[in-house]
Amino acid sequence: MDDDWVRRGPIDLHAHSRESDGTDAPGDVVRAAAAAGLGVVALTDHDTVSGWQEAADAAMETGVALIPGVEFSSQIGPASVHVLGYLLDPVSAAFVGERERIRLERVERAERMVRAIGRDYPLTWRHVEEHSAPGATIGRPHIADALVTLGIVPDRSAAFEGILHWQGGYYQPHHAPHPVDAIRIIADAGGVAVLAHPAARGRPVMRMGVLGELVDAGLDGVEIWHRDNDARSQRELLVDAERLGLLVTGSSDYHGSGKPNVLGEHTTEPAVLAEIVRRATGFAPVVPGP
Ligand code: AMP
Ligand code: ZN
Ligand code: FE
Ligand code: FE
Repeated sequence: MDDDWVRRGPIDLHAHSRESDGTDAPGDVVRAAAAAGLGVVALTDHDTVSGWQEAADAAMETGVALIPGVEFSSQIGPASVHVLGYLLDPVSAAFVGERERIRLERVERAERMVRAIGRDYPLTWRHVEEHSAPGATIGRPHIADALVTLGIVPDRSAAFEGILHWQGGYYQPHHAPHPVDAIRIIADAGGVAVLAHPAARGRPVMRMGVLGELVDAGLDGVEIWHRDNDARSQRELLVDAERLGLLVTGSSDYHGSGKPNVLGEHTTEPAVLAEIVRRATGFAPVVPGP
């Protein structure tokens, strides 16, 4: 397939549906991308691929090209690090095993948080279940939505600034692999690994100087153009990316109405997407006819 399609319109490589903690159905993420005038969108739900098929159907219906992906949870000590995986084989055994383990432990962790919050607020696990789609990867956003419905906080973002903040008194961690292992799993599944928002909250990757180690493990790129990376970090990351030969991406991290991020607020260069597609061997992009 020639790759002219990467130039059809703006490219946004990071978006969530309600298969994890976004608020739109997977098909609606793609329809929203079409309405926003994008040419390409990646669906990157946390630790799941369950939205790919519905998103692919919507891609064929709207003409927007789809890059099936995932946002893999990992951690360095207590600090959470997200790794985007694109065009990886969804049935690779190591990928299936690790994502299911993370998803189970996310539920146990959310239950622990809800028990602790429930001692001080009228929140129960039932409320959280009512705010998550069946089979969705559970996260703090689902607890946040329950707190909003109960009138305890005005919106998700307020919940994250208070009760659900990592220093808010109720926070619990969940198991996740080291990013070196997450990157290896993505690479072994034929995918392309891009470090998500490396300068977000605490900048663990930059602070701990592990970028070189991640490149040795098979990291392909860094998501520099993202609202959670401050301008100084972006400059530092550009220097690192140049030195280490990393691809540079930009994306919105759209979560529907759950977060202010809007589709297409940051985008990726067509040549970078062409290189991602060239490197990937695990799964094909979904490219509707012209
Ligand atoms: P967790 O993975 O369970 O620790 O929850 C963190 C996730 O919540 C991150 O992936 C964020 O993108 C997501 N999130 C969704 N909506 C918001 C919001 N309004 N404020 C902060 N984080 C949010
Ligand atoms: Zn999220
Ligand atoms: Fe993230
Ligand atoms: Fe994300």
